[in-house]
Amino acid sequence: MSAAYHLVEAHPDADVVLLEAEPVLAHHTTGRSAAILVENLSTKPNRVLTRASVDFLHDPPEGLVDAPLLSPRTVMHISSEEQSEEMDELLAKGSSLPSPSVELTVDEAMGYFPPLRRELIHRAALEPDCADMDVGALHQAYVRGFRRGGGQISTTARVDAARSDGDGWCLETTDGVIGVDVVVNAAGAWGDMVAVSAGVEPIGLQPRRRTAFMVDGPGCDTTGWSFTAGIGHNWYVKHDGVQMLCSLGDETPSEPCDAKPEELDVALAIERINGATTLGIRSVNSAWAGLRTFTPDLSLAIGPDPDTPTFVWCVGQGGCGIQTSRGAGLLLADLALGGEPSAVFGGADISGLLPGRFRSHG
Ligand SMILES: Cc1cc2nc3c(=O)[nH]c(=O)nc-3n(C[C@H](O)[C@H](O)[C@H](O)COP(=O)(O)OP(=O)(O)OC[C@H]3O[C@@H](n4cnc5c(N)ncnc54)[C@H](O)[C@@H]3O)c2cc1C
Repeated sequence: MSAAYHLVEAHPDADVVLLEAEPVLAHHTTGRSAAILVENLSTKPNRVLTRASVDFLHDPPEGLVDAPLLSPRTVMHISSEEQSEEMDELLAKGSSLPSPSVELTVDEAMGYFPPLRRELIHRAALEPDCADMDVGALHQAYVRGFRRGGGQISTTARVDAARSDGDGWCLETTDGVIGVDVVVNAAGAWGDMVAVSAGVEPIGLQPRRRTAFMVDGPGCDTTGWSFTAGIGHNWYVKHDGVQMLCSLGDETPSEPCDAKPEELDVALAIERINGATTLGIRSVNSAWAGLRTFTPDLSLAIGPDPDTPTFVWCVGQGGCGIQTSRGAGLLLADLALGGEPSAVFGGADISGLLPGRFRSHG
């Protein structure tokens, strides 16, 4: 949706149509995230996209949203003695951010998340300047901006095959046949399938399932509590109104599908969270799962296919597709028709985002 919005913004003369297989938008991964913005996350190329997104998320263009998209939140990572090296790496990666990651004392860590079991904290680090994102409102902002720019949305319109006729593409969809000049492949977990259906070499996308669930909160004032995670996100928990959102941070390889939560993953998450905290979780209010889809090197792939330039990739959003959405959509729109990255990227190295890196001949 972000790519579609930025395409109409950057190319007002282009006719852009967004084809969605499902009857509603955001039914898959976008509607299933933990909705947290953390700059100290993911690969260097992906961080370029997050950086290019932050100002937009803080201050979206006039008329796209009715309320702020971000609410301040801190993120805290906890490590055991054996995970000390991982903690050093995290602190080093976060040291050059505008709000650098900081190491906390155990007392400070307890202040940021009082239910922690103090005796299990060896080290703790805080990301001071994170945020909860209103993903529904952000998605609607892109929809609104896209429609305002003349874009059209067709739902229940799955692309089953794309045939290149030299000048452009003939798309066979469940809603009929459509002729287009350029195809943007933003099909999430299905990205490689769409490529194959277009006769384009896939790039080796790997969808990985992650389960999340809601439990009752502790029933006290949780204002100021951090999103708290075992380092490496092998469990995490954040308060969300009167409930707590929890996850095992699982990354189970999956085929593209409508992902469902696994009871075992929920049970293991409860065991880990109860082991690390005094929350004493006994029952689950709701659970869901989504596919986080990664390229082989974990960075997004954005831009024209090196062998078929009218086939443009926008895939591999992994676990940071919401917080990178502005940067990814903007870069896509910059590159889709052969242009250069916008000034927003400040001349950053984007080579680690281009799809050609996955082709030995590219
Ligand atoms: C539990 C969990 C927690 C997460 N937490 C965060 C977080 O805190 N912060 C963050 O930034 N990110 C987070 N993410 C990741 C984020 O949600 C994803 O990176 C992002 O939503 C991916 O968006 P997408 O548009 O690529 O995929 P999707 O939302 O899955 O969209 C792809 C769309 O393509 C459609 N499609 C597929 N094939 C076709 C076809 N042939 N024709 C037409 N349409 C097709 C699908 O129906 C789907 O609607 C989380 C993900 C999960 C699962």
